[in-house]
Amino acid sequence: MSYLNPYIHLEALTILAIIFLISMKFRFIDRGGVVTSFIVGYIIYVFGGRVYFLALLTFYLVSVAFTKIRVRRVKEVENKEDGVRGWRNVLANGLTATATAVASGLSAEQKILFAAYLGALSSAFADTLATEIGLLYPRMPRLIINMKKVKPGTPGAVTYLGYMGGLIGMTTLTLISSTIDKRLTFYEAAIIIYSSGLVGMTIDSILGATVQAKYRCRVCSKNTESSTHCGSTAEIIEGVKYINTHTVNLIATIIGAIVATIILEVLNTIK
Ligand SMILES: [Zn+2]
Repeated sequence: MSYLNPYIHLEALTILAIIFLISMKFRFIDRGGVVTSFIVGYIIYVFGGRVYFLALLTFYLVSVAFTKIRVRRVKEVENKEDGVRGWRNVLANGLTATATAVASGLSAEQKILFAAYLGALSSAFADTLATEIGLLYPRMPRLIINMKKVKPGTPGAVTYLGYMGGLIGMTTLTLISSTIDKRLTFYEAAIIIYSSGLVGMTIDSILGATVQAKYRCRVCSKNTESSTHCGSTAEIIEGVKYINTHTVNLIATIIGAIVATIILEVLNTIK
C-alpha cells in the first residue's frame, strides 16, 4: 500500500514540481493541461508507485517531443491547439490509466491491473503518436471506414506513417515497462501492449470517422471538430453532438484496458 507511506508523497511532489516547472518553461502544455497533468501524475505516483509513474512520464515526454516536431513542420492543421495540450486532452488520455493505478494501490491483483494500466496507456500513446506523426504525411490521408482521401486532421483519417508512429509508441512502452518491472514477462508485456495499442488506435479512428461530431462554421464555412469557430457556435453536420475528440480518446483507452486484461487471461490459459 504505497499511498500510506508519507515518503512517496514527498517524492512524488518533488519530482512532479520539477516536471511542472520544465513543462511551463518550454510550454509543453497549457496552464490547465499542466495542472491536470500534475494531479493525474500525483495520483498515479502514490497509488501505482514508481513503475506506473515512469511509464506515464515516458508517454508524456515522447508525446510532447513529437508534438513539438510536428508543430515546427506543419503549423496549419486546424484545431490542434497549436501543439499545446489542454486539460481535456490530458484527462481523455489519462483517466483510465489513473483509475487502474488507484485500483492497483488498493488491491492484491497486481498482474491484471498492471496489464490494464499498460493497455490504457498503450492506446493513448499509440493514438497520440499516430496523430502527430501521421500529420507529417505529405499526401492526403484516407478515411478508415471507406479509404476515401480526406483532408489532413479529419477525424478518422489514417496513413501508413500514422500507424508507424503508433508502433513507435507501443515499442517504447514495451521496452520501458519490461525493463523497469517484472510483473509481466517481456513477451506478455509486448503482446499486451501491441494488441491493446493497435485495437485502441483503430477504434479511435473508427469512432472519429463515424460517431464523432463534425461541425461547419457559420462565419467562415470551414469544417471543424470544434463546436465553436470564429467566436460563434458552429453548425453540426455529422455525428453525435456530445461525442468529441476527447470522448473518443477516453473510450479508446477504456477499450485498450479491456483488451489488455482479455489478452492476459488468454496468455494464462494457453500457458
Ligand atoms: Zn470560422
